[in-house]
Amino acid sequence: MKIPNKIVFIVVDDLRHDAARILWPYFNIIFTQHHTSNNWTLPVMARILTGQLDTGLNYYKKMFSEEIAEVLKGGLKVPTIGKFLKDDGWITYSKNEGVFVGPVFGFGNPKEWDIWDSEHKGNGRNLYEPIFTHKKKEFRFYHDGYIHNYLEEGSKKTYKEMKTVSFGNTVAKNVRVYYAETLAEMEKWETDYWARAATLWSILDWVPKSDALVVLTSDHGEIFHEYYNDHTHAGSHMVDEIARVPLLIHWPGHERRRVSQFTRDIDVAPTLLDFAGVKQNHMDGVSLLPLIEGKKIYKSTLTDQYVHRSGELWKYFFSPTEKKLSFIKKL
Ligand SMILES: [Zn+2]
Repeated sequence: MKIPNKIVFIVVDDLRHDAARILWPYFNIIFTQHHTSNNWTLPVMARILTGQLDTGLNYYKKMFSEEIAEVLKGGLKVPTIGKFLKDDGWITYSKNEGVFVGPVFGFGNPKEWDIWDSEHKGNGRNLYEPIFTHKKKEFRFYHDGYIHNYLEEGSKKTYKEMKTVSFGNTVAKNVRVYYAETLAEMEKWETDYWARAATLWSILDWVPKSDALVVLTSDHGEIFHEYYNDHTHAGSHMVDEIARVPLLIHWPGHERRRVSQFTRDIDVAPTLLDFAGVKQNHMDGVSLLPLIEGKKIYKSTLTDQYVHRSGELWKYFFSPTEKKLSFIKKL
């Protein structure tokens, strides 16, 4: 396989799989059954960037952005793809609205790309075509809140700043909680969400023409009264609309493929490193490249435990032989 020298890795926060359906014609490798493991950003991003199950990460059993961010100030105890790539001579760059950016997570300094950044201000700017400024191998990681920010559209705030809030046995401080109190509010959210999702069609139209390898996924999906009468952003249960997310690859020159095997968030990191020609054997996830070529990759059933947003301990169960992935709440 010819190793690409430009890789763009995009995580569109909050993009459920059916909201990304409009983008399939832009990509030639499409995973139709890709799944994430949690209903909020930080734990999933850690899994995506390290290829590790929750039990191998240093925030395990921590909850809420604030606590995890505190733990992560010194970085993750296992290397991210940023570190692996940098050690292999790649210029690495990450842009993100929260943690997982910069040298402590193995990525380069965003200042190197100031020119590109200043030309693309506004919502969704991380999704526009990158201007590459180096001849060397470049890896870019953009975590973009364009879809997620539907929650802050218009004059009416759809979140409440809570001084303290309890979830299960845990009390969190200074949390922004998103929830719709009435059906009308929820329907406004729904309208704003799908309006933004539809514009991805024009924002990402550079992808099929790009010389770069482009990988697009999401950290979790979204629900709008599909099952419950309350509406909290990113839901309270690991239903299909939350757990199933896009995994789309633009692989220049490769023939078109659709892979309907179940795949997981922890497989993204080893796949990216495989594309970059970086060898490693430290990850729980496995590279999906052989799967694209029709080979088997999963050997055994895999389970993991993780803390859900509501403070509950959930069990993650993945069986390739049964083609089944489930999230079981541990009582
Ligand atoms: Zn998120």
